[in-house]
Formats: sequence, C-alpha cells, structure tokens
Amino acid sequence: MDQIKSILTGFAACLYPPRCPVCGEILYPADQRICPECVKKLPVITGPRCVRCSKPVEKEEAEYCYDCARRSFLCERGFALWRYDRVTAESIAAFKFRGRKEYAAFYAQEAVRLAGGFLRRYRPDYLVPVPLHRRRLAARGYNQAALLAERIERLTGIPEIPLLVRIRNTRPQKELNDKGRCQNVDAAFALSQAEWRRLPGIPKTVLLIDDIYTTGSTVEACAAVLKTAGIEHVMFLTLCIGRGF
Ligand SMILES: [Zn+2]
Ligand SMILES: [Zn+2]
Repeated sequence: MDQIKSILTGFAACLYPPRCPVCGEILYPADQRICPECVKKLPVITGPRCVRCSKPVEKEEAEYCYDCARRSFLCERGFALWRYDRVTAESIAAFKFRGRKEYAAFYAQEAVRLAGGFLRRYRPDYLVPVPLHRRRLAARGYNQAALLAERIERLTGIPEIPLLVRIRNTRPQKELNDKGRCQNVDAAFALSQAEWRRLPGIPKTVLLIDDIYTTGSTVEACAAVLKTAGIEHVMFLTLCIGRGF
C-alpha cells in the first residue's frame, strides 16, 4: 500500500511539479520550496511596526498605525510576514485561484520562522482558519487559509480547528471600499457547533489564520463570533498586510 502511495506521489510530482511561489517556475531540485534568488524578492517587514496589527509604520516612535490609533478592535494583536506588494499579490493569487497549493509549505515555514517570537509570546491554544462559504469551497476545491493552518500545525504542534463557518457567500473583499468591506462581512460568520462541542473547554486564546489583512474587517467579523462564544483573546496571523501610514 505504501509502495502504491509513493508511486502515486511520484506520478503526481511529474504531472504537477512543485513551483516557486515567487517566479512560478518548476523547482529544481524539487525538494526546494523557493528559488534562492526569489526568496530575496519577498518584502519581509523589518522596520518599525504597529504594536497591534504589525503594519509597517513610518516613524520608529509611532506605537500604532493610522487605523489602530483611531479605533478599537476585537482582535487584540496580529502578525503579518510581508508587505502587500506586486510580488506577494501575485504569489497569493496563484495560491488561491490557480491551484498552487504547494505554496502553503513555504508560507508556513516562513510564518513559523518570522512569527516565532509572536507565537511563543501569545501561545495560542488553536489555529482557526478564516473559512470560505461552502459554495466557494466547492468551486475552488480547497480553502487556502486552512491549508496554511494545517501546515503551521505540522511545524508548531498548535492544533488547527475549523471553528468558524461562513454562512453568507459574500462578495470578494477586494472589490469593495472600507465601509463596503465591513458591511459585506457583517454576520457572514458563525461558530461551527459540531467543532465547538468537540472542544474540551472554552479556549483562552485563538489565532485566526488568513492570507491577507487589509482593513481588518474580515478578522474582526470572525473575532466577534469567537469572543461572543467566550474566547478571551483572539489574534491573527496573515501572510501579507497593507501599509499603516
Ligand atoms: Zn523563483
Ligand atoms: Zn495597526
């Protein structure tokens, strides 16, 4: 059986060889996850960042970004690896819409490397992927946030649990402005009762996993559901984030 499985895996690797998450070329040797040259093109956030959402801020002394200084959020803390730019936008679009599921392995490896301090500090009990509506899931075949969360679980041992469901099939957030984004995701999520019942108790801290953070309206809508259920701390981890000034 194992032999058949490994033959099938090898066959799949020939048909769908893993590709670089930046240039999209076939990786050689195939056990690499990114080209050595392409890794340098990723805009890792290194300078001063907002203490709440981790967006890059212009000045070292600025504690919060423009958004976080002006309103309060249910999600207390968050971490993003990269700025949202041409390179990351293209990579994530291929991951989400063009079947490049293998990128999850590289993304998770980088998430654990760059957000290691954040994870050790806040010690989430569970990783909760931002869900897709079942119709969109059926059309796409996979939820990219769940793939990412599963890979992070493998590397950290923090269990991934699909604690949320999307009950409204909302329009893609990228098509909307700030106000529209909030209204769009309002009441879009609910607790998965089946998953909730399986928990040994109410978790203290959960970490939402998603690909992109823009205005934060998606993670806020998720946090509202989780906090109403009694979870004390809700945080987020995303691959990309916009600028904070
Ligand atoms: Zn490359
Ligand atoms: Zn912020």
